[in-house]
Amino acid sequence: RTIIRTEHLERVYISGAVKTYALRDISIEIEQGEFVAIMGKSGSGKSTLLHQLGLLDKPTRGSITIDGSDVINISEKERTIFRLNELGYVFQSYNLIPELTAMENVYITAMARNVKREEYEKMAEDILTAVGLEERMHHYPSELSGGQQQRVSIARALINKPKILFADEPTANLDSASSEDVINLFRRFNEEIGQTIVMVTHEKDEGEKADRIIWVKDGLLDMDRQAGI
Ligand code: ADP
Ligand code: ADP
Repeated sequence: RTIIRTEHLERVYISGAVKTYALRDISIEIEQGEFVAIMGKSGSGKSTLLHQLGLLDKPTRGSITIDGSDVINISEKERTIFRLNELGYVFQSYNLIPELTAMENVYITAMARNVKREEYEKMAEDILTAVGLEERMHHYPSELSGGQQQRVSIARALINKPKILFADEPTANLDSASSEDVINLFRRFNEEIGQTIVMVTHEKDEGEKADRIIWVKDGLLDMDRQAGI
C-alpha cells in the first residue's frame, strides 16, 4: 500500500528579490516497506524534498498524504504531533544530548509517550542491542565513536516504531567502515521488520543498497528506478 504520496510539490525559497525553485513539480508514490534512496548532485533539491516528506518544512504548492492522511492542510500542532508519533529522523550530525547516556538519549523520546519506566527502559535496551550497542548503553556520547553515536541516533529514531524513517546524509561524517555498518543496519531493519526508509545520499554505492533510487535534478524528478542494477 502507498505510504507517501506527493502531487505537484513545489518549494520556492524567497530571500529579498531572489527566488530559488528548490523543488518545481514532484509527484511520487512510496510504498510501505520500501527502502528508497534520494540521489542527485549538490543543490539539486534532495534535502528540500526529504524535509517536505518528513514534515520538517512546508511546500509552497502541492499536496502530501502519509498513510492516507493529508498532512499539509492541518494545523502546525497536528503536524508536530504527527511527526512525534509517526516519523523518525536521522541526520548527518547525531544531535545527542551530551549529559545523557546512550540509553537515556534513546528512551527520552519514549518517555514523552506516557509509557511506564520499566517498559521504556526495556525498549531502549532492545533497540540498542539491535544496533549492536549492548556493551555501550551506559556510555556518554563523548565516550563513543562517530559510528556508535550514529547508531544511538538510529535507535532513538526507531524506539517509537515510526511509520517512516527519514535519513539525511546519515553517513556524511563517518569513515567507510562505519558508513557501511549504518547502511547495513538500515537494510536489516527494512528486511526484518519491513521498516519504510527514505534516505538522502550522494554515495552511489549506498543508494544501490536501497530498493529504489529517486534521482532529483534542478528540483525535478530525473529518474526513478530499481536499485542494485
Ligand atoms: P541538495 O540537498 O540536493 O544539496 P537542497 O535541497 O539543500 O539541495 O537545495 C536546493 C536548492 O535550494 C539549492 O539551490 C539551495 O541553495 C537552495 N536552498 C536550500 N535551502 C534554502 C534556504 N533555506 N533558503 C534559500 N535557498 C535554499
Ligand atoms: P546538507 O549538507 O545537509 O545538504 P546544506 O549545507 O545544503 O546541508 O544546508 C544546510 C542548511 O542550510 C539547510 O537547512 C538548508 O536548508 C540551508 N540552506 C542551504 N542552501 C541555502 C541557501 N542558499 N540559503 C539559505 N539557506 C540554505
